[in-house]
Amino acid sequence: MELQHTDVVVIGAGAVGSMALWQLSKREGLAVVGIEQYGRVHSHGSYAGESRVFRTAVHEGGTYVPMIQRSRELWRELERESGRDIYYEVGALSIAPEGFPDLLTAQGTVREFDLEHRMLSTEELRAEFPQHRVQDGDVGLLDARGGGLRPEVAIMSALDIAERNGAELHFNTPVIDIEERPNGVVVRTTQGAWLARTVVVASGSWSTRLSPELDELLRLQVLGLTWFMPKDPTLFVPERFPAFLRDAGSVHFFGAPSFDGYAFKACTNPEWPVFRDVAEVPTHHTREELIKIGQRAAELFEGINPEPVRESVHHCAYTPDRLPVVDLNASGRIVTVAGMSGHGFKFAPKIGEWAAQLVTDEDAGVDPRFALPAHMARLALTGPYTGGGH
Ligand SMILES: Cc1cc2nc3c(=O)[nH]c(=O)nc-3n(C[C@H](O)[C@H](O)[C@H](O)COP(=O)(O)OP(=O)(O)OC[C@H]3O[C@@H](n4cnc5c(N)ncnc54)[C@H](O)[C@@H]3O)c2cc1C
Repeated sequence: MELQHTDVVVIGAGAVGSMALWQLSKREGLAVVGIEQYGRVHSHGSYAGESRVFRTAVHEGGTYVPMIQRSRELWRELERESGRDIYYEVGALSIAPEGFPDLLTAQGTVREFDLEHRMLSTEELRAEFPQHRVQDGDVGLLDARGGGLRPEVAIMSALDIAERNGAELHFNTPVIDIEERPNGVVVRTTQGAWLARTVVVASGSWSTRLSPELDELLRLQVLGLTWFMPKDPTLFVPERFPAFLRDAGSVHFFGAPSFDGYAFKACTNPEWPVFRDVAEVPTHHTREELIKIGQRAAELFEGINPEPVRESVHHCAYTPDRLPVVDLNASGRIVTVAGMSGHGFKFAPKIGEWAAQLVTDEDAGVDPRFALPAHMARLALTGPYTGGGH
């Protein structure tokens, strides 16, 4: 197979890959190739499903806040460059019983980083957000800089701009393997092969197929999405209904306002096992699962029809502690990003920017906590991710 030569190949044009391509395409004189196994913006990636919650007051703790804050700037930049609406800063409302551990961590995060927010009592929640049915003792944390992201629009925008800037994009072109040579990295696909100086591997749930060294580290979590029709859809539009996280007993719901004007997204996850390969993941909820999710949703939201009007089932690769892998191999030629662990869309622009800096020898440096050796050391102590982490 004849080799085509280029400076950088990005494998995977999903959340991270599209952001890396956008960033790389800004570098004058750099030849950039993006390779995606499906078409331009598809329904199979971990990014699919209309919206993603954006939060700065994350209950995962402060490790993420600087990445999220940089990403917020980049989301705005992407909107300016594309002229499209991507980031709806309508707030993100966490509701849980007072003292709930995730809420306490989020409160710690807002204090540590002085994040703009409001705490709401049960009475204030009932008065201001009657769409939520709250229990006595529930409190709210409204993250003012949170809201909803439009993932498909974001990825389309990043890819369009990258292409406009001169990146060469190949769709419906699965990468078969990667081979490192002294003079570069060979990326073989079903349509041809490239010899690149450096490569970014951002292949999401498929990562272990191209990077077998991640086999023990990553597990696939199934994540389902459901949308419900409220009796009064005007109460659920972005101007009146922030993105949300709800914790009630052992039930966790997350969701977003209505972007289509008739249904809003409210999701909880049945106890699905973890998987090793995408081919094993279920593609739909069962009827029983949908009935149960609808019953729970009707307990948490006022005036909704309990039958989900839309549903889809997705997957995402998780590390045991949900910290992503951002690794530069020993030769400095291959950057691997993986394990975005069900919360990585919000900070994908920062990770894409970082990957772009690493493959262009800019002085970005790998954070040792994100590098593969540190992940493997933690894995040896904890074992792989076993589920239940969303
Ligand atoms: C249902 C659901 C809800 C979520 N909710 C949130 C949320 O509210 N907030 C948040 O911040 N995050 C959320 N996440 C997480 C976030 O969406 C993911 O972490 C993120 O999309 C992962 O990005 P990625 O680039 O690693 O993978 P992807 O976005 O899946 O991209 C990987 C790409 O690589 C391509 N690819 C793979 N193998 C090959 C190959 N061999 N050759 C060519 N191309 C290949 C794939 O086709 C795909 O396009 C959610 C995830 C899911 C599934």
